[in-house]
Amino acid sequence: MPPTPTLPQPGNLDAGARLRRAGLRVTTARQVVLETLAEQPHTTVAELLPHVRDRLRFASTRAVHDVLATGVSAGLVRRFDTVGVAQRYELTGPEHGHLLCTNCGRLDTLGTHEEAAIHTGLCSHCAPDGHAHAEPAR
Ligand SMILES: [Zn+2]
Ligand SMILES: [Zn+2]
Repeated sequence: MPPTPTLPQPGNLDAGARLRRAGLRVTTARQVVLETLAEQPHTTVAELLPHVRDRLRFASTRAVHDVLATGVSAGLVRRFDTVGVAQRYELTGPEHGHLLCTNCGRLDTLGTHEEAAIHTGLCSHCAPDGHAHAEPAR
């Protein structure tokens, strides 16, 4: 296989290498969606699409869904199914806690919790003091 040309990557994500490690064919759509997801974690397809289109002009909602579904089956992408909220996605990687904002529905990283559980509370935008707060476990 000829060496892939080194393109500027957002951050340090090598989406091509991730795809190959997962045994998936490397396509432009897959690379762009994974790289966009690395920059925009915890996003819905609707939120992700304009960013994907910045780089892949004719990307369709369907194409983004397809890449994400493939990524989920291959273990590259984590999908958050939260009742009453649109599905959100992130790249799998270091485990971190999540805070689902009960006010605006935003899914935020909660650095103080090691496990990938989803806690509810107020996100940094909605909390009066600007710091995300998880509600105590019930
Ligand atoms: Zn909020
Ligand atoms: Zn996350």
